[in-house]
Amino acid sequence: MNREPRFLPIRIIGDQQLAQKAKPITEITEEIEELVEDMLFTMYATDGIGLAAPQVGHSIRLFVIDLSYHSEEGKKNPLVFINPKFTLFEGETSAEEGCLSIPEIYEKVLRAEKVKIEATNLAGEKFEIVSDDFLAVALQHEYDHLDGILFVDKIPKLRKMIHLKHLKELRSTTDENGVNIG
Ligand code: ZN
Repeated sequence: MNREPRFLPIRIIGDQQLAQKAKPITEITEEIEELVEDMLFTMYATDGIGLAAPQVGHSIRLFVIDLSYHSEEGKKNPLVFINPKFTLFEGETSAEEGCLSIPEIYEKVLRAEKVKIEATNLAGEKFEIVSDDFLAVALQHEYDHLDGILFVDKIPKLRKMIHLKHLKELRSTTDENGVNIG
């Protein structure tokens, strides 16, 4: 592939793309391959550990995650999840989460402690991951994006109240057509 990866603008809360249930991917086309390349480029550029396709305006069931970039001095080890599906949830845990689509808000979210997920990679191969560490949290966070769910939808009402003003400001940067203009 002879193309430079592009930085994709990230949709901010209030954008309609973030609230939709994303559609399954039926074929891994060159466009999907390029989108993944651009999503990874964007994720690394914004210091994120995960990015879901709806966050960059594509309502399809795809997300990328790389936890090693932060923990292992910049060594990249990206995981690509196409049409992911959880087959196990076990236990409970809560970790502080943030989201590239909700800048400056961090809150603890109740999640399953251990998950098993099935997905397809870019090569079209099915794979399975079992995790009971922070990857499990990241998987659930990114998967939620595919169902139009944001982590602030899952925090206690009282905690959400604290951020209401900031959330309202973030939403006001999004125009009626759902494109982030801020
Ligand atoms: Zn997010």
